[in-house]
Amino acid sequence: MSFIESLTLTLALTYSVSLLYWSGKKWGAAASGVLVSTAVISSLYWPLIAALAIAVVVIGFVNKFQPQVAQGDMRSNNLRDGVQHLLALSMLLVGIQFAVNSALLKAGITPWLMRPDVGDAFLPIAGGIELKAIISLGIWDQTHPAAAVMLTVVLLTGLLCKRAFCGWACPLGIAGEYLYKLRKRFIKAEYLPPAWLDWPLRMVKYLLLLALLYIIVGMPAQTIPNYLSGNYHKIADLKMALFFITPGLVTLLCFGFILSLSAWRRQGFCRYICPYGALLGLVSFLSPFKIRRSTQHCLIESKGMDCDKCSRACPANISVHTQKDIRSDECQACMRCVSACPKKEALHFSTRNGIKLSARGLTIGLMVLLFLIPLIAYLSGFWVSQTPTETRMYLIQHLNSIGH
Ligand code: SF4
Ligand code: SF4
Repeated sequence: MSFIESLTLTLALTYSVSLLYWSGKKWGAAASGVLVSTAVISSLYWPLIAALAIAVVVIGFVNKFQPQVAQGDMRSNNLRDGVQHLLALSMLLVGIQFAVNSALLKAGITPWLMRPDVGDAFLPIAGGIELKAIISLGIWDQTHPAAAVMLTVVLLTGLLCKRAFCGWACPLGIAGEYLYKLRKRFIKAEYLPPAWLDWPLRMVKYLLLLALLYIIVGMPAQTIPNYLSGNYHKIADLKMALFFITPGLVTLLCFGFILSLSAWRRQGFCRYICPYGALLGLVSFLSPFKIRRSTQHCLIESKGMDCDKCSRACPANISVHTQKDIRSDECQACMRCVSACPKKEALHFSTRNGIKLSARGLTIGLMVLLFLIPLIAYLSGFWVSQTPTETRMYLIQHLNSIGH
């Protein structure tokens, strides 16, 4: 686990403990703090231990100078923006580290900067095949174990808190948001497709998901061990990087299309193209937590007033004010609707039997899922790739000739 991974992980978990403490669950926070510290110290891995010490000091300083941030006592939009930007910054640093590591390998120099295993999160097909290997054959891949871990983690977030991963954590979502805002500075008008066109366009991401699932599900179980021990799997991450660094004409056209789509429509990439979003959208139907509107408190039913502030705040264009429970696969649990609602009790992210999750609660849940499971995986020896550096250095010289 690289230092930036360690620091992100310990900062996120320490922040969760801080939020838990300030939400009044002092015993829960104490127990979680002891659990995380014990886990980190027992790893005997100095970057992780040093990162924990730094994280504790940083959260302590934040609590002294910006107590509302450390205590999560702020508007949900600010909390979400902060979480999203910090995770995006971490992913950017991870990307730079990965690029430096790969460039050194390519130059035949033993890398002084280690490969960040969390980059395997961008290998969903490898992750899916690895999960299939675990379930059907009991084989735990040691080449890109983080791919299976991160796919599991992301699926769990969908199962528990809808598409909160998209709304709170995905770096592509935030990049799309900036592109959209940039476009709006120059062209103010909105060009939304009519409903009859929007629906089939939304289905495109499900078709892409189907294609990915076909690769995973269609791979015969008996061929999986060969695939996992093959050279292609060993350098799947480098192949993917090469695809982005040296794009052909078709790839460039695809990139241009995706960028235009994100600039044209808010969350255009998430809504129409992203297969990860499609997967989470499907899984999110099972989530017990949903945005729910209380007709008892909503100004429409309780006071007979006209109000649609929640719907106007929704980046996914969901008609929140006309529904009781938001089941839409496009809901990213971003809580913008809750924030925009003038009536305190009218909207919440809750279960059917009334268990509510505030923005602070959602942050804690998300951080724990996103970072505690990788920590457990790391301690169990199922996180770091076991492919020797020499093997990667040899294979990267023959990248173009290595196929499936
Ligand atoms: S319904 Fe609310 S939580 Fe869901 S995407 Fe719209 S604004 Fe965000
Ligand atoms: S913003 Fe609040 S009060 Fe207004 S319609 Fe939506 S839920 Fe009701």
